[in-house]
Amino acid sequence: MTSYIYLDNNATTALDPRVATAMRLELPLNPSSPHRYGQRAKQLLLEATRRVAAHLSFKPEEVLFTSGATESINMVLRGLLSKGDHLVTSAFEHACLYNTAKAIEPQGVAISFLAHPRGAISPEEVKAALLPETKLIALLGANNETGVLTDIDGVAALAASRGIPLLVDGVMLLGKHTLSLPAGVTFAAFSGHKIHGPKGVGVLAMRRPCAPLLTGGPQQLGRRAGTENLEAILGFTAALSLLSEGERRQMALLRDRLEAGLRILFPELLVHGGDGPRICNTSNVAFPGVDGESLLIELDLQGVGVSHGSACMSGAREVSRILLNMGIPRKIAQSSLRFSLSRQTTQEEIDRTLSLLEEILRRLS
Ligand code: PLP
Repeated sequence: MTSYIYLDNNATTALDPRVATAMRLELPLNPSSPHRYGQRAKQLLLEATRRVAAHLSFKPEEVLFTSGATESINMVLRGLLSKGDHLVTSAFEHACLYNTAKAIEPQGVAISFLAHPRGAISPEEVKAALLPETKLIALLGANNETGVLTDIDGVAALAASRGIPLLVDGVMLLGKHTLSLPAGVTFAAFSGHKIHGPKGVGVLAMRRPCAPLLTGGPQQLGRRAGTENLEAILGFTAALSLLSEGERRQMALLRDRLEAGLRILFPELLVHGGDGPRICNTSNVAFPGVDGESLLIELDLQGVGVSHGSACMSGAREVSRILLNMGIPRKIAQSSLRFSLSRQTTQEEIDRTLSLLEEILRRLS
């Protein structure tokens, strides 16, 4: 599998060997234990919390380690909203937010799922949707299928001026964009496995309290019961510390090289969200007249892994909700593929992908 070209890094990334090393704890370390090992565990947990807080520009006591962004987002939506409340969100959210919002709707929570052909919601559109009952605004920082960025600074300024909490799904911002979480961002959710860290660990950065999702022991200041997964937390912290601006520049260059090459191969190519700001690693493109499913299978057979969109879509042939909600016709959505790069992607891999595609497109179109 080593020669396989993996261009599906928005689904998950490979664990960085340096992260794996940071996770190797041979001692039985539980931060709640009263003895020497417990003290050591507590020290490691505090240090990890301090480092994550500094990276995110939050205070250490505002950092909560969770099992991932899905849990972080569930905690805020379920902990904050109840009957009679109103949530402003978008039709472009990841399934963990979109489906959780749908799940609490029958409890009497009114929800505005905003949409716009750009693939992200502007502060003005959020402003127009606010009601006196609005108790939360929840938006992606960057879309995992298209890479389209939301103007979080603008939405945060609006949220702060209205005194409404704002939850940002920051999963795709980490390592792919300058992280800006101004004071108007009340909650932000992150995930380890998208940044070459382990799966099953994430963070909820929280500037105000929220009812716990998990109750039981007093761990993490009573906000999340359960013995802390110290190995995964150390892995997340190490993964965060390895992110660099240089690798973002490199990903942007390779993404641009890929898109330029694709345009030459297929002049009718459409780049979804390509007119506005996007994160550096994601390219979601349509090959009108070519079946995306066949393209994906052919690429896989030739040793290149790409996807249609979110790995959370339930069926391979399901058409992307994100693209459809951008107003893209079903046929075009079905001819689309997502290429997502990581710092491990090389120029040789991009060039090889393009030359394989040249031959595949000739056969399929
Ligand atoms: N939000 C976005 C934008 C994602 O891409 C993902 C990952 O699939 C999630 C949330 C969920 O993260 P996790 O896998 O940590 O629950």
